[in-house]
Amino acid sequence: MSGLLAGVKLREAGIESFTIFEKTDDVGGTWRENRYPGLSCDVPSHLYSYSFEPNPDWTHRYSYGPEIHAYFQRFTDKYDLRPHIRFGAEIVEAAWTPEGWRLQTADGETHTADFVISASGVLHHPSYPDVEGLDSFAGPCFHTARWPDGLDLAGKRVGIVGTGSTSIQLIPQVQRLASSLSVFQRTAQWVFRVPNQRYTEAQQARLRRFPLLNRLVYAGYAWLFRLISSAVLGNHFLLDRIAEGCRKNLESVRDPELRRKLTPDYVAGCKRLIMSPDFYSAVQKANVEIVTEGIARVTPAGVETDDGRHHELDVLILATGFHAHSYMRPIKMVGENGVSLEDAWRGGPRAYRTVALPDFPNFFMLMGPHSPIGNYSLIDIAERQTGFIMQCIERWCTGEFERIAPTAEATRAFNQTLESSFGGTIWVSGCQSWYLDESGLPNVWPFPYAEFQRQMRRPDFSEFRTV
Ligand code: NAP
Repeated sequence: MSGLLAGVKLREAGIESFTIFEKTDDVGGTWRENRYPGLSCDVPSHLYSYSFEPNPDWTHRYSYGPEIHAYFQRFTDKYDLRPHIRFGAEIVEAAWTPEGWRLQTADGETHTADFVISASGVLHHPSYPDVEGLDSFAGPCFHTARWPDGLDLAGKRVGIVGTGSTSIQLIPQVQRLASSLSVFQRTAQWVFRVPNQRYTEAQQARLRRFPLLNRLVYAGYAWLFRLISSAVLGNHFLLDRIAEGCRKNLESVRDPELRRKLTPDYVAGCKRLIMSPDFYSAVQKANVEIVTEGIARVTPAGVETDDGRHHELDVLILATGFHAHSYMRPIKMVGENGVSLEDAWRGGPRAYRTVALPDFPNFFMLMGPHSPIGNYSLIDIAERQTGFIMQCIERWCTGEFERIAPTAEATRAFNQTLESSFGGTIWVSGCQSWYLDESGLPNVWPFPYAEFQRQMRRPDFSEFRTV
């Protein structure tokens, strides 16, 4: 999503000499990788679109994965980006040299570039549970981001480990097919009920006919979702409404024992808020069991829990999330004066205003550390970051400087302000989540969206070292 965007914006600036490196054979990022049944985006599709590329034909308010993937494929063709993409080219090393960046692919090819933009996504590297015997399971056992082609779950005894956003989208689909479904839940989740409206032909035709209406829909959702994102920063009225909505949704679970199991012991919004139209109705079906005892070990025939019970399974699905703080790693990056990314990020990933790093000249990131990755459209965020980056590159094009990197002082000051702003936020109110990085601090944007907008509007060149 963000790499394609950068390509379009480079072209708009009249820059044709760029290459997008893609390790697989298709575009689409997370929407190519994730193919589990029920995959959808919990940001309304009219907002989860490029602002300059509305799609009147979205079929649902929250459209499904294949449709979103097709949107990015169409976008690639419409903007004629394919000639710029090198498919099957995984970058494994990036080193700054006196001649600029030297990139190396897994095949050993080398490329040079004046600028590098990392657009490698956030939730990209699957996290596997460290459970005894996992490799011994006799049936299919896989991470949700590695869904096997042609898997038939009909009549199977299925286990799902994890109850994050992925699992909660997947459970209703598996429940319909499987003979039994055991959900291994370590931590209960707050779930906000959001119906997924299907758009009629007439609604789609109206949006096709009146493009302004499309823009209004985008603006309306943007306003609403920025408001929701700001709620977690301490808008108690909104937070209370969200918590109330989640609690009311939970009350739809009739069996008190099941309701108890599904009741979280932390406040709604601490982990990423989950939206679902059908999770609670699915888990109340007779073929579903929520297992809250810990997993002791995996056996060839199933999962043994801490209470000694053996859950017989044919298929084991790991909905256990991602290594969210890898960013462009495992690429081995070395900046100026031999500074490695590993050294620069000892203690946790830190950046200048989410997009740049001192000692890494002419290098920028999309979705870098502390990008606002809550319940808002990452596409809008990438657009703002791209706008910032393009202003730097355009200055370089005029010959104003050869290299540009933020100063260490400005980066430190930015991060100190961030870190002092996390106290009292809902993310540190007493839960574990993938928002928290190795320093224990949330790796998210702790200010209102308007502040991100302001900081991305134009670079403050006094905070950069240019040579
Ligand atoms: P996640 O939110 O990190 O959830 C992982 C789940 O696995 C959690 O329930 C976790 O339990 C559990 N888990 C991890 N290791 C375990 C272990 N060893 N034993 C037992 N349980 C274990 O991952 P995700 O569901 O893939 O979602 C990640 C993010 O992807 C979401 O927050 C969202 O940003 C994004 N996403 C978005 C959409 C969308 O619609 N836009 C859809 C899917 C995903 P604990 O809670 O106890 O850690």
